[in-house]
Amino acid sequence: MVHDTIAAISTAVGEGGIAIIRVSGPEAITGIATVFRSKIDLQDADTHTLHYGHIVDPLSGEKVEEVLVTLMRGPRSFTAEDVVEINAHGGVIAVKKVLDVVLQLQGYRTAEPGEFTKRAFLNGRIDLMQAEAVIDLIRSKSDRAFSVARKQAEGVLSKRIKALRQTVIELLAHIEVNIDYPEHDVEEMTNAFIRDQCDSAIDEIDRLLKTANEGKILREGIVTAIVGRPNVGKSSLMNVLTQENKAIVTDIPGTTRDVIEQFVALNGIPLRLLDTAGIRETTDVVERIGVERSRNALEEADLILLVLNYNEPLQTDDRELLLQMKGRPVIAIINKTDLPRQLEIEVVEESIAADSIVKMSVLEEDGLDRLEKTISEMFFEGQLESGDLTYVSNVRHIALLKRAKQSLVDAIDASDSGIPIDLIQIDARSAWESLGEILGDEAGDSLIDQIFSQFCLGK
Ligand code: GDP
Ligand code: ZN
Repeated sequence: MVHDTIAAISTAVGEGGIAIIRVSGPEAITGIATVFRSKIDLQDADTHTLHYGHIVDPLSGEKVEEVLVTLMRGPRSFTAEDVVEINAHGGVIAVKKVLDVVLQLQGYRTAEPGEFTKRAFLNGRIDLMQAEAVIDLIRSKSDRAFSVARKQAEGVLSKRIKALRQTVIELLAHIEVNIDYPEHDVEEMTNAFIRDQCDSAIDEIDRLLKTANEGKILREGIVTAIVGRPNVGKSSLMNVLTQENKAIVTDIPGTTRDVIEQFVALNGIPLRLLDTAGIRETTDVVERIGVERSRNALEEADLILLVLNYNEPLQTDDRELLLQMKGRPVIAIINKTDLPRQLEIEVVEESIAADSIVKMSVLEEDGLDRLEKTISEMFFEGQLESGDLTYVSNVRHIALLKRAKQSLVDAIDASDSGIPIDLIQIDARSAWESLGEILGDEAGDSLIDQIFSQFCLGK
């Protein structure tokens, strides 16, 4: 398949710094060579070398910009095609001029968004999961989401999927031997082996699925419900949190009038804040509705900020909310500490762990840092497996992992009930294919190749 040569500015456009124009495709080197003046002819240059020179206007021969050019011959490049990267250190205008010159070259066009990555995938340079991670990387909203996406792009998760497939391959090889040599009385052993391999694969899939929710959290933010009776200071808290982090506040589309939602990043932790009864809380009826809404938000929240009033004794609604907090990820915020204490803190401590209780005065912005610290501690201690940044964060991956797991469960069941081994083989094979689909593999022949390349059956 013949591709065009594509070009685009691959660094963020801004003042100063270095901008890189990336070019990839069959004409990458021959084309740029015609507009690059240097001591060396680019076409003769070795792969993975850097060259100083100027981009010139092909018609007038005038120098457009002083540049450094990097050359990478395929397949040892990101796209597996010939790649040239032009490092220009001038500002926006200079870079645009260089790009204009480049795009006039024969067979060149502007790259579509993500097209370099797409080519890397199509050329077998990266697997589908890695390509998806690069897309996540571009979209990631916070530092942590960014580092997770980067890990995935580096193939951490792919490695784990490949290891899983290895387990399944061994299983298939074993079954294959059994089918080929039924006279060897190995059926008993094979059943034990099937169970072991399936169990260990299922365990690993469960571990990956467990991180799926965390992946969602990082992509969409921790759904954080601010709940409490009317007038305790929920809206004020929301305002302070979003103002403090104004630069990164975004409006979430679909925000209703009843529930105010905003996205903030607190120390790099993305929070999707929900002020559950943000409007009109004066009349009794509305008050009840407010509490009811708080209850609904409670169900769905990843984190609950329960606001209480330091200046009032606990009310029935407070006590009811406290009881609902059992076993939930919650921080109790005792607000209005600038006023005299009326609240029975001992009662709060019966339902909420002491280190999850934060006293503060939103009005005087006192105690905000303690709240932020408590949130980060909960996040890093509670949600993360020790330093392991492998996340399943894509609906497609989750669905395929679940499908693979089901096939393995079926295989165990089949083995237990003495079903002929070639039927178990079908389950194992479909587990293998589901896992392969995550990586964007075509199953079929490659399965056979793999089995036979890895296991000598001694025929
Ligand atoms: P909500 O109904 O829970 O959303 O409460 P609001 O945020 O609307 O606040 C209710 C009232 O309490 C407002 O008059 C706020 O100014 C006031 N308020 C909020 N936080 C504090 C605080 O820390 N100290 C004092 N004294 N008043 C506060
Ligand atoms: Zn409010």
